[in-house]
Amino acid sequence: MSKLTIHNLDLKNKRVFMRVDFNVPLAPGDQEITSDKRIRASLPSINYALEHGAALILASHLGRPKGKPNPEMSLKPVARRLEQLLGRPVKMAPDCIGPQVEAMKPATGEVLLLENLRFHPEEEKNDPAFAKQLASLCDLYVNDAFGSAHRAHASTVGMVAFVPKAAAGLLMEQELKYLTMVTKNPAHPCVAILGGAKVSDKIEVIFNLSKIVDKLLVGGAMAYTFLKAQGRPVGKSLLEDDKLDLARQLLTSTQDKLMLPVDHVVASEVKQGAANQVVEAIPDGMMGVDIGTKTVEQYSKVIAGAKTIIWNGPMGVFEKLPFDKGTVAIAKAVAQSGAVSVVGGGDSEKAIKAAGVAEKISHISTGGGATLEFLAGIELVGVAILPDK
Ligand code: AMP
Repeated sequence: MSKLTIHNLDLKNKRVFMRVDFNVPLAPGDQEITSDKRIRASLPSINYALEHGAALILASHLGRPKGKPNPEMSLKPVARRLEQLLGRPVKMAPDCIGPQVEAMKPATGEVLLLENLRFHPEEEKNDPAFAKQLASLCDLYVNDAFGSAHRAHASTVGMVAFVPKAAAGLLMEQELKYLTMVTKNPAHPCVAILGGAKVSDKIEVIFNLSKIVDKLLVGGAMAYTFLKAQGRPVGKSLLEDDKLDLARQLLTSTQDKLMLPVDHVVASEVKQGAANQVVEAIPDGMMGVDIGTKTVEQYSKVIAGAKTIIWNGPMGVFEKLPFDKGTVAIAKAVAQSGAVSVVGGGDSEKAIKAAGVAEKISHISTGGGATLEFLAGIELVGVAILPDK
């Protein structure tokens, strides 16, 4: 990677401020962490820093507290889980700046977790005075929060100007390595699989990837906007009527690269276990809820021949069984392809796990919005600000 990484820093006896992504889901009421995936993803950088003699300050946001302290979005449960995962104490700060936090600065080998950065409105406003206060806590800055790297906030961008040295963490390095590998000079055939609810969320991604890939396989509800734009029957499928012109433009500009479903699982309602059938033309009053068997076959054939695969978004309403079948079949096809594969987006990741093929995927990205921005060809602000090697 062209950016300085934690490997390039002398961490010994240095106070290291590490921006991590601990934005974990908490159960309402008892604040139990329902998935500690993001905490685990930060462990390589945390352990590396501790093994190399750092005094570690960890900082993250959690949820959307809108600039006000909110006990329901406290990082305290994360401190407890991190203690278990690290097998060493993690001190919890009552805030992320101020005299109390300064008094708690860790010594070498100690870990201090700051309270939710977004309890202060200055974080999301990228306020320079706030950024300076965060920076005053440390000697070195490491950004390992790939999932927040598309946001120009004080902890991801602003404070870099005020720290003596900044670098990327190991998760950040890993994410950038794989996303760069599949988008800059990928091995061909290169195939993108795009699904999910809306074309409008992925316009830039479709446009940018169509310049890179050989085939773009479209599934999910966004396929119906394209099909309607081609004048095909879509019944009452979810679609974006105001994006039909745009869909026509994308169909023209992507030429024969873009493939659409040739058959569909339809139901009269989106409900777990709803009666369904596979059709080629969607009848009035029915909605497409998954890609059909012929489409799975066609797409799987393209996937089997790929050397590089980029996947974002489910092929159907995969949360409601049995409408997960198309997405799970695509997950298996990706796993069997032997291609370098990068999967982004929580839903595609769930499908990969449901199919039991996670270990066959080269990289499962932890970023949602950040991954989409990267795939859209946009330079991530939190990466751009980090110094080159
Ligand atoms: P996204 O966040 O854009 O990746 O969209 C994911 C959502 O798209 C999931 O909640 C899916 O249930 C939904 N989705 C996928 N296919 C369909 C479909 N055919 N009809 C309605 N929703 C869908």
